[in-house]
Amino acid sequence: MITYDAEPRGSRYQDLTGRRFGRLVVLKRTSKRVSDGCFCWLCRCDCGNLTVTSSNKLLQGRTMSCGCYRKERLESSRSYIGGTCVEVVRSKKIPVSNTSGIKNVSRSRGLWMAKISFARKQFFLGRYKDIADAAAVVKAAEQLRDEVVEEIDQLQDRAISVFAERIDALLSEVRSAKET
Ligand SMILES: [Zn+2]
Repeated sequence: MITYDAEPRGSRYQDLTGRRFGRLVVLKRTSKRVSDGCFCWLCRCDCGNLTVTSSNKLLQGRTMSCGCYRKERLESSRSYIGGTCVEVVRSKKIPVSNTSGIKNVSRSRGLWMAKISFARKQFFLGRYKDIADAAAVVKAAEQLRDEVVEEIDQLQDRAISVFAERIDALLSEVRSAKET
């Protein structure tokens, strides 16, 4: 039984029906083939989703779920961006220690001090006579921070797909070197 080897080129194929790969159970072969000649298989993921993936990806352990596993991992790693906990940042809850009733605004030297934290750093946003001014600057700064968090999120996604593409290229190089 071949377990780890890539599927040979050509029309022969290893029947994967009924086999489990990580969260995926193979339901049936499809008529679709990928560029290296491998057949694609319809699989059911433990989460209930159906997905189609190639023999090589399954046999080499590169596809282990419909994408839900990667998504879960991403979400857990996303919780911290540069030391900023995204959940805390996004929470509208006001800490118990807060004296102003407005997040990131506190009483200081008879004025209302506004500050915001990002990536383990405190950013001082000024002291104001009017609490509304402090609240306004905090609100604007929070919006900027949300935007930056969002941008970093997307960069992280992009970094993961760039890495995945390069791993694919590496593996196909390794494979073609082995074949010659
Ligand atoms: Zn899934």
